[in-house]
Amino acid sequence: MRLAYGEAAKAFPIIGIPPIHSAHEPLVDAASFDELTGLPNRKSLWPLLEDAINRIPADKQVLALLVVDVDHFSFINTSIGYDRADKLLQLLAQRLDCSVRDHGVVARHGVDEFAVVLSGIPHAREVSAAAERIARAVAGPFTIDGVNVRITCSIGISLYPQDGGDTATLVRNANLALHRAKDIGRNNLQFFARELNERVVERARLDIALRSAVENHEMHMHYQPIADLQTGKLAGLEALARWKSRELGDVSPDRFIAVAEECGLIEQLGEWAIRCACQDIRYWLDHGYGVPRVAVNVSPRQFRDPSLATIVSNAMSEFGISADMLCLEVTENVLMQDTPACEATLARLAAIGIDLVLDDFGTGYSSLGYLKRYAFRKVKIDRSFIENIVTDSDDAAIARTVISMAHSLGIRVVAEGVETEEQCEFLMKNMCDEIQGFLYAPPLAPDALREFLREGRALPGRLLRQARPSRTLLLVDDETNIVAALKRLLRPANCTILTANSGREGLEIMSRHPVDVIVSDQRMPEMTGVEFLRRAKELSPDTIRIVLSGYTELQSVTDAVNEGAIYKFLTKPWDDCQLRAHIDEAFRRKEMADENRRLDLEVRTANFDLAVANRRLEEITQQQQQQIRRDEVSLHVVREALHHVALPVIGLDEDDYIAFVNVAAQGLLCGSGTLLGCDARDVMPELLAAVGSLGQGNSGTLDLKGATYCVNCHRMGQGSEARGILVTLTREPS
Ligand code: C2E
Ligand code: CA
Ligand code: CA
Repeated sequence: MRLAYGEAAKAFPIIGIPPIHSAHEPLVDAASFDELTGLPNRKSLWPLLEDAINRIPADKQVLALLVVDVDHFSFINTSIGYDRADKLLQLLAQRLDCSVRDHGVVARHGVDEFAVVLSGIPHAREVSAAAERIARAVAGPFTIDGVNVRITCSIGISLYPQDGGDTATLVRNANLALHRAKDIGRNNLQFFARELNERVVERARLDIALRSAVENHEMHMHYQPIADLQTGKLAGLEALARWKSRELGDVSPDRFIAVAEECGLIEQLGEWAIRCACQDIRYWLDHGYGVPRVAVNVSPRQFRDPSLATIVSNAMSEFGISADMLCLEVTENVLMQDTPACEATLARLAAIGIDLVLDDFGTGYSSLGYLKRYAFRKVKIDRSFIENIVTDSDDAAIARTVISMAHSLGIRVVAEGVETEEQCEFLMKNMCDEIQGFLYAPPLAPDALREFLREGRALPGRLLRQARPSRTLLLVDDETNIVAALKRLLRPANCTILTANSGREGLEIMSRHPVDVIVSDQRMPEMTGVEFLRRAKELSPDTIRIVLSGYTELQSVTDAVNEGAIYKFLTKPWDDCQLRAHIDEAFRRKEMADENRRLDLEVRTANFDLAVANRRLEEITQQQQQQIRRDEVSLHVVREALHHVALPVIGLDEDDYIAFVNVAAQGLLCGSGTLLGCDARDVMPELLAAVGSLGQGNSGTLDLKGATYCVNCHRMGQGSEARGILVTLTREPS
């Protein structure tokens, strides 16, 4: 349904604010309306707004300008098709119009952007309610040609008079607020704030300075070492860009990368980063530094650039770097785009053998599906989860889940932002594969990195997965003399003993120290032993938990045993020897479980490597098959072309058998009988004799059926793998 101009004006009368309508009779002409939606168009927004400003009563009512932008519209366009997207915009326009009918006017401001002028509102609070109403209206389901579509929108709002005394300022500030709404993840509304203005000014300064940063040699690359938790040694480097601006001083990458993305400089910066990393790798190789794989960050926009794979392979060949020296880090939002361009980039990178690392895992719409689908080699747990990993049970659970999820797919896990030994120990005990962070090394300038490489710095043995972990026992009892007695008894057992007098204290200790085995009393004030061990299981499921009690409340103990919170129930008074044996067995059990997990991971990683190798092999085989098919086709083409050449052409193999004979030769030499595959000595002795008397490239003559032919010989195999002689006959003028 496309509306003609006149109809449009009728179908969508600008009602609701009679003063605006009547004051702008001249506006109601064809050029003022949007053809698709019938709403006033961008051009008429300014006069409408100006008029609304002029008409604002002196009783301090509020006027608001809302810019409503459909989230991910280009994605919607490609997924439902342009026609349906047009219909969606028409339905949306109607909904917006209805939702503000009583006190506002809607205009189409851009392709997927609408402007709403709300006036006659007594208080700014109501603007927020109206904007929420609009957002709800947009979010309701649409049915277009039987297809259900759901969308969301981002809204930027400026208010008159506080955010601008004139139309231009109001429009600009509403747009700034909209940008902010998009920046913080879309599907939300933002009021204009003064800081936005300052941000814009700052952005503009950065933008200008950044344009010449690469040419002015203001960009540098730092490299942060990544350590392997099994060997403690260097396992990788991450390239992190640094900008020392002559004008602005040091600017952090979080700031300049965002600006570069916005002003279209990221491709240039991205190419610089890839080339710089390759150049540095070349330098290290040439100077005898053993370096591991270097990871370069790639931003989402760069990933959409179809030339990314070419840029990478050009840089690799320019500096003589093989694909196993480089990998790219991408964030989840790259994959969320899921556009054909993105798929194509992934395929091209895979074809040149570049591995991918999934960066900042956990911050976006983390999905196991991505990991499976795109054959990531590694996943990086975002540093926001690592920060409180030892104290926050949610973060701990997330990290554990990511690790086991990735391992089940044979993908290695790197933890980012590891600053303390406690964090590292937690990660090591939970089978994380690698760590990156200030604990091992900060990002280093190239000369500092050389020093680091020379030193060969490694993590201390106690933090390593492979090292036989020191045994840690936690004793919890409210009676201090029992704790003391147990401690005395177990001290020679060669383990670290931690003690607590209550369940709460026990949990506190566990949040600070990794624990292998817990022995807890049952009857304690505040929290029973069973309850404490239940919570301990949540905090650290791998611990082995034992109750040591003088009392037996059968029900609670049975429940706890059944749900796996307790491994053993022992009674007081204890037998020293037996208790020691039980605890030793508990440690061995724990160590066995750890070892099993390690082996399981090794098997899975090996399987994963195998799967990757198989996939590559399959690709190579496919490419070869394609080549063979192409060769076959071109052979057929050549054969057919030779068949139809008017000149008689005969191909003899190395044993003088006839390998090819075209139609003209067949007619001349044998009529309808078959020559192909026959011995030339039998079926054309004269020709063979004539050929035999000639050298390569020479020509002679032969009399055939009353005519004289010039015989031309060409020995094959110079430009191809063909063997034998190609003979052509040309009739001599009689
Ligand atoms: P990222 O990819 O998450 O990089 C890791 C960030 O964590 C780096 O910040 C690094 O300096 C910081 N970091 C490392 N260890 C620790 C630690 O123990 N504690 C804490 N608190 N932080 C740590 P940086 O260098 O400021 O870079 C910020 C972001 O800028 C990077 O985050 C990356 O997304 C982006 N970036 C940096 N260089 C490039 C580049 O060449 N291209 C692109 N597209 N993005 C880049
Ligand atoms: Ca990164
Ligand atoms: Ca990260």
